[in-house]
Amino acid sequence: MKQIRVLQLYPRDMNIYGDYGNTLVLQRRLQWYGYEPVMLSYNPGEEFPTDPDILIGGGGQDSGQDRIQADLLGIGERLHALAEQQVPMLMICGLYQLFGHFFETRAGRRIQGIGILDVETYGTDKRLIGNVVAESDEFGTVIGYENHSGQTYLGDDAAPLAAVTTGEGNNQRDAHEGARQHNVLGSYLHGSLLPKNPAIADFLISTAVQQKFGEQLGELASPASSPLPLQALTERARQTASSR
Ligand code: GLN
Repeated sequence: MKQIRVLQLYPRDMNIYGDYGNTLVLQRRLQWYGYEPVMLSYNPGEEFPTDPDILIGGGGQDSGQDRIQADLLGIGERLHALAEQQVPMLMICGLYQLFGHFFETRAGRRIQGIGILDVETYGTDKRLIGNVVAESDEFGTVIGYENHSGQTYLGDDAAPLAAVTTGEGNNQRDAHEGARQHNVLGSYLHGSLLPKNPAIADFLISTAVQQKFGEQLGELASPASSPLPLQALTERARQTASSR
C-alpha cells in the first residue's frame, strides 16, 4: 500500500486542548482514502525523521515554547526547505506563533521563531478565549476554540486562512484567523481543528498525495465499514498525555 508519512512536531511539549486529535484524524482519513499512514513524531534532540509528507504541530504554554525553541531553530533550515518544496503543514497556536518570526511575551521577552510564515506575535494582558467561527473560500466555515495571550499580525507574504465572524482569531484588530504561505497553514484553533473541519484535513492529505504520487484523492471509504479502533486510540492518547 502507498505510504504517507505524517510527522507530528514536539508532541511532548506542544500538544494541548486536544491537538492530538489532528494526528488521529489524519491517520484515519488516510486509511479511508486507501493509503497507509506512517505516524512519526519528533521531540527535542531526537533524530529528524526522513522524508515527511505532512507535518503537524500543536499549541503549548509559553514554557513549552521555551523548551522547544532552541531545537526548533536548529531544524529551521530543514523545515524551510520542506515548506519551499510545498510540503503541506498545519501548525496550531504555539507552533503557529513560532513558525512566524517571533512571539514576544507580555514581559517583553522574545521567543524567536523560524519565519516560515510572515507573521509576528505580541503577548498582551488580555487572553483571547472562546469559540471561533470563520469563513474561508477554500475550506468553507471553519470552527474551533481559541485560548492565547499572543496576538498575531500578518505581513505581506502571508494570507489569512479565514475571515472571523465569531471570536477573535489572530488578534483583536483584524477580523481574520490563521495564515497561509506555500502549503503551510497556521491557525489558533484547537478543539481539535481537524475532526471539526475535515476539509482542512483533506487539503493536507490531497496535497501530500499529489506531491508524492502525482495523483488525485479518490473516494473516501465509508467510515461504517472501517470502525475506529477506539481502544487503541484511547490507549495512545493516554500514553501521549502521561509522557508530558
Ligand atoms: N503560549 C501562547 C500564547 O498564550 C500559545 C498558547 C497556545 O498554544 N494555546 O499565546
